[in-house]
Amino acid sequence: MTRQSRLAVDAATQALPGIGPKRSRDLADAGVHTVLDVLCHLPSHYSDRRRLDDLSPETLERAARDQTPLTLVGRLRGVRRIFTRRRGLQLVQGTLHVEDHKIRCTWFNRPYLAQQNDENRDVLVHGIVRRSNRGLELLNADVTTPEMGGGITSHYRERGGLGDRAWAKLQQTIREIGPDVSTIPDPLPDAFRTRHGFPTLGEALEALHAPAPDVDFDALEQCRTPAQQRLLYDELFQMQVELARARSAVKGRVKPHRIEVDDGIRALARDMLPFRLTGAQKRCVAEIVEDLRAPVPMLRLLQGDVGCGKTIIAALAALVVIRNDLQVAVLAPTDLLADQLARELTALLGELTEIATLSRSSEDGEAVRQGLACGQIQLVVGTHALIQDAVDFHRLGLVIIDEQHRFGVHQRLALTGKGRSVDVLLMTATPIPRSLALSAFGDLDLSTVDELPPGRAAVTTELRSPADRERLFTQIDEEIRAGGRAFVVFPRIEGEDEDVSSIESVGMRYAEVLDGRAEVLTGRSSPEERRRVLEAFRSGDLGCLLATTVIEVGLDVPEATWMVIEGAERFGLSQLHQLRGRVGRGGRRGRCVVIPSGEMSESTADRLEVFCGTSDGFRLAEEDLRLRGPGELLGVAQSGTGAWTSTRLAAAMHLIEAARNDAREWVQGDGAEDPAAETSSVLRAG
Ligand code: ADP
Ligand code: MG
Repeated sequence: MTRQSRLAVDAATQALPGIGPKRSRDLADAGVHTVLDVLCHLPSHYSDRRRLDDLSPETLERAARDQTPLTLVGRLRGVRRIFTRRRGLQLVQGTLHVEDHKIRCTWFNRPYLAQQNDENRDVLVHGIVRRSNRGLELLNADVTTPEMGGGITSHYRERGGLGDRAWAKLQQTIREIGPDVSTIPDPLPDAFRTRHGFPTLGEALEALHAPAPDVDFDALEQCRTPAQQRLLYDELFQMQVELARARSAVKGRVKPHRIEVDDGIRALARDMLPFRLTGAQKRCVAEIVEDLRAPVPMLRLLQGDVGCGKTIIAALAALVVIRNDLQVAVLAPTDLLADQLARELTALLGELTEIATLSRSSEDGEAVRQGLACGQIQLVVGTHALIQDAVDFHRLGLVIIDEQHRFGVHQRLALTGKGRSVDVLLMTATPIPRSLALSAFGDLDLSTVDELPPGRAAVTTELRSPADRERLFTQIDEEIRAGGRAFVVFPRIEGEDEDVSSIESVGMRYAEVLDGRAEVLTGRSSPEERRRVLEAFRSGDLGCLLATTVIEVGLDVPEATWMVIEGAERFGLSQLHQLRGRVGRGGRRGRCVVIPSGEMSESTADRLEVFCGTSDGFRLAEEDLRLRGPGELLGVAQSGTGAWTSTRLAAAMHLIEAARNDAREWVQGDGAEDPAAETSSVLRAG
């Protein structure tokens, strides 16, 4: 095939053989639109199959004892489905013959193996030996051809309806007919790349999908190969460039104003509080107020798990600033959240100050801009995009950025980059370990709300099978009658097939049962429609919202009591946790029910069990990464949150310093280009 006829990086996925309209739609739903997006879906882990094992009794004993996987080439005979009584469990068994030896093989939920196997062909089997009550056996071993399965094999996390092998095949196809590695644009400046001896982005992606046969396998597992280091570095560099910008913008600066806190403000704050602050909230408020009063601008990150009460802290900070005749801008990632924050802040501060919202759909946009320019409006709530473009403030004193983890650092800090000497408070529900915060962020200060408000009953979480829905319908119906509200979240809007629950298929059954008390809310609803539906839900006219993850971040409806997550296997643990955080905020106890789309694989069941077993967001973030493996260590692109867990941190630690120095150098000689923004747009292609 000539180079001209190769697919371009930005070719649509449908241009790939085997990807029809339905597959490409599924992929698009999962954020995979182009060939480059496919390339950015990195392996989650690898298996080493470079050496073939035998089936001698000694080998078997050792493998069973050490639990190291065996790689075997032989014939599979007598593969058949076994009838079981356990619902959702399909058993397949067969015998693997290697030369004169043989071993029993058992698989769960892989019925296709029984149809596909050809007894007269060699297969490559890779798996762990278990001791069962019937002797040694290979359990859930991977079966491929010796041609496909040998060497170092990359494994992929399920995404967009494609499983491990399907993803491997796609990557293989791209290697054959996709873009030449050298044509993949590399956003990292060459000087920095060569300084560290890193491969180009194209080379790195290739090395990760198809590791060289002589690669150091331990290094690969620990995220220490040059390709992996390069991608970790990219992420750090991008973060550091923005921090360096922010730093250089505030460095040596002194705020043109002084913020004071007098007894009048203290009294107002006391009157404003609808509840007593927790100890953690008090500590964070004190830290923030101290920064506000200092002569140099604040750059502080306020972190705390969902529902810990960050909004009231922001409101108190805003109160102090407004009472000092300065303006406050509050930014949220979506219109929906901006609306909600505006409502919450109006409830708290509305009697004390003029509050406005600025959104794409607001008709009074011009009036708001004028109000801000002349100083009549003291507090404005909007989305990043809107406030970033050319809004003039009369006297801006404080910028608060909520749920910032959804965004690249560059977006968060663009405001401070404009050279205003304003105080900046970032708020996030994604935990960042202190060690990282200190070494990576340097002078970005950190406040942590590590305590939940009192009387918050833990949300009970349970895993249910799709067959159990009728009972669920009845329970939700009763709950709504008793004054509760239910969110039902789906991974998808449309789709008739049974393998992924969608609003159009399963959702409509809720709508029927809850006749008139359920409505749909998705990213496709118009802003007016969303407002209307949410308002009805808040007021209780509507008992149930059938939604996509538009509701994931930060939405606060205290009356919401049930969170049902359909197609739960499609979500990461951290994402499930965010969703669960939406309920149980009011007086009534919250309940979360997770339901898989269909039959669960063992690993899905394990993952969902972990979720049901803990309400610790930080643990779930760690667990997410443990389960997803080193691909995810690199995968901010994939998870969207990029939690810094200890493993990921360990692999990246020694790069932080270099990334910081490089970034400072880059910012000092800054041209018009923004490598960081480009890097992120490449790597966050999802
Ligand atoms: P998040 O940190 O996720 O943004 P919120 O600020 O939305 O959390 O707070 C979650 C809920 O807890 C809100 O309904 C809020 O009114 C309530 N809340 C916050 N702090 C307290 C407190 N100290 N005592 C009682 N309720 C509180
Ligand atoms: Mg919040």
